[in-house]
Amino acid sequence: MTALGDLLIARIARTGPISLADYMADCLMHPQHGYYATRDPFGATGDFITAPEISQMFGELVGLALAQAWMDQGQPTGIVLAELGPGRGTLMADALRATKAVPGFHDALSVHLVETSPTLRKAQAALIPDATWHDSVSTLPDAPLFLIANEFFDALPIRQFIRDADGWREKMVGVSDGALSMGLSAAAPIALLEDRLSDTNDGDLVEHCPALPFIASSISTMIEAQGGCALIIDYGDWVSLGDTLQALKAQEHIDPLTTPGEADLTAHVDFAAIAAQTGAAKFSRLTGQGVFLERLGITQRAQTLAPKLSGDTLTSHIAAHRRLTHPAEMGELFKVISIYPSTATPPPGLEP
Ligand code: SAH
Repeated sequence: MTALGDLLIARIARTGPISLADYMADCLMHPQHGYYATRDPFGATGDFITAPEISQMFGELVGLALAQAWMDQGQPTGIVLAELGPGRGTLMADALRATKAVPGFHDALSVHLVETSPTLRKAQAALIPDATWHDSVSTLPDAPLFLIANEFFDALPIRQFIRDADGWREKMVGVSDGALSMGLSAAAPIALLEDRLSDTNDGDLVEHCPALPFIASSISTMIEAQGGCALIIDYGDWVSLGDTLQALKAQEHIDPLTTPGEADLTAHVDFAAIAAQTGAAKFSRLTGQGVFLERLGITQRAQTLAPKLSGDTLTSHIAAHRRLTHPAEMGELFKVISIYPSTATPPPGLEP
């Protein structure tokens, strides 16, 4: 068992089983032993690889899409260019480089990064020294908000519930035979799952992300009041159904309970739960990442870069284009939704 596992076993012995969300929160963000709090997990040699680490084209196109949305909204000044969970900072660095040539954009913006991991903040500061860091969206300045969140929502802790004739039974992390094990609470009606009664049957498992509503409604309120837009890119579906919790270590799937703090834990994003928080702001139609990137011109960008490359770098450039866009790779599993003001049009690449 890991050091965090021993701490969790002791805690559960003292106070009883904990929700999956509490377990995930400690596994990912425990100050001494949490997965993100202690390491840089990205890249080909890490536990997983994300779109901005696959190719510079990803951050470039996302940055240009935000700059186009800024132009479409009349080039407001004093804007916040924000990213949630920026990882190594690669996406933001690529976005800033690509938008240098957009007249007035850099003069109009300041960069704000929402990141809880001290280790990753250091990596981000090396690439984007002028940024301002935040622990949560609640301290972002009151200003037009142009925001990107790539693989951020999938890292937020989830609770899992199984439908039962008498309500819902929550999956809880307990201890059995000295090891962490999954159990079920007694059945009870759960008000926040009221809307899932119509699309589920007895025995179905549903997931709920407790931190999502506040984050999605905060950014929507700011965007509607001040202008701007959010691009949220993640893996998941309109409505999630079934167990989507995943633990990844060295790019292999493992049991989420065996090495707490040493594996990445994620769950599919429920995009309808984001849309439900947009209030007066609008949200765009959920679109596959492949279609979105093609509409933004990734093929032309790939062709522009290709003549400067040869050998292995050219081969991996071609593979990166395919990996980001092909339906059998990230193109359909990963999806994009935007939040934009009721007075504006959706950002490029997306439809109302
Ligand atoms: N966007 C990056 C990294 C994705 S991994 C990329 O595409 O490569 C998830 C990121 O979210 C990490 O930077 C992690 O430290 C951060 N994170 C996870 N939970 C968070 C929370 N509750 N608040 C702020 N940042 C969080």
